[in-house]
Amino acid sequence: MSNYLILYSMRTKAIIHVDRFLGNLNAIRTRIGNERQICVSLKANAYGHGALEIAKRSQEAGANCFGVATVSEGIEIRKGGIKAPVLLLSQGHPAEIPRIIEADLIPFVSDIDFADELNKEASDKKTKLQVHIKIDTGMGRIGCLAEDAAALATHISKCSNLTLKGTATHLASSDSIDRQDIDYTKLQLTRFKKAVAAIKAAGIDPGILHAANSGGIVLHPDSWLDMVRPGILLYGFKAAQEYELPIAHMKKLVKCKALMVEPVMELVSTVALIKKIKKGESVSYGRTWTAPMNTNIAILPAGYADGLPRLASNRWQVIIKGDPYPLIGRICMDQCCIDIGPEPKVERWDEAVIFGSDIIPEDENFPIIMQSAAALAESVRTIPYEILCNVNRRVPRVYK
Ligand SMILES: *Cc1c(COP(=O)(O)O)cnc(C)c1O
Repeated sequence: MSNYLILYSMRTKAIIHVDRFLGNLNAIRTRIGNERQICVSLKANAYGHGALEIAKRSQEAGANCFGVATVSEGIEIRKGGIKAPVLLLSQGHPAEIPRIIEADLIPFVSDIDFADELNKEASDKKTKLQVHIKIDTGMGRIGCLAEDAAALATHISKCSNLTLKGTATHLASSDSIDRQDIDYTKLQLTRFKKAVAAIKAAGIDPGILHAANSGGIVLHPDSWLDMVRPGILLYGFKAAQEYELPIAHMKKLVKCKALMVEPVMELVSTVALIKKIKKGESVSYGRTWTAPMNTNIAILPAGYADGLPRLASNRWQVIIKGDPYPLIGRICMDQCCIDIGPEPKVERWDEAVIFGSDIIPEDENFPIIMQSAAALAESVRTIPYEILCNVNRRVPRVYK
């Protein structure tokens, strides 16, 4: 690490536990078997974990391809030397097509017009472009209607500069153990199979078939097909556990061990200043917290611009030397405060974990401290995805 980075990371840093990431990838590989491919989701800077670094580590560990949301995300990893196929998971704009071709991205195609635009530009550049058809089987977002899939495939097959390499859909409620949600996933998969059969009946090879996001990987073996597209699971979060499923649905999963994943990112700050606060004095903007007694507070150089949600003000804690300390007063853009009590064990420059893994105390009489990004998400009524994505680029990522 350069001197500059060492100094910089004294403030607030995101420690990325690469060993855990690789463990999560391996757990998915074990679950789905060697015959299937894995497309690692690298959207939003790899859910905040650093797209290029995650791409490199995944490639070494045998991931087959990558998924990005924007053309510039694709270009970033190409510039970093990633050679594996890269799927562009969102709808591109026609003006981006030259860059899609230049960066050798594989766009999802949902309609004939976009197929024509891609074909024209590929023809002008005298190249062949690989595409995947995206079918909307019930997500209601991008993708062609299931009944239009065969016509779209036929059209693409007539575009001399396009090659159909795959056919995909996206699941809307695959991470839920609610019976209606399970049935909805089954309905989506049935629609997908029917559309794929129609493509085949038109004499066209649909290429590799893929549907499973993290929820599909954990709860729906029927969705694994030729390739899976995990995101949040790789970064260590699972919305539902297999054992929570209704019995009837569990039978297909009995051969599988529960898929164990560990949170990859730990957001860590440093105690920058400790000071005494007298009973009755207030802390931070809006004076939402007043000291109930003479106490000490510690100031951390981490705020909502670093990824600590402002809504967590007065409802979250940080861990210092194994003990929890409550966040008090409003979280500011770049700073926050904790109450460390009248006789603090905390010392200046101690490390403070904002989120990471849940902590199971050695003494079983003490409760587990929920300190994961998922627990933080719950306390501010969002999902771990949003917490991870919101860790700002200014926070250095330190790979361990
Ligand atoms: C983001 C995304 C995924 C991964 O979703 P997770 O819920 O994080 O596993 C898979 N497929 C598509 C099309 C996506 O956009």
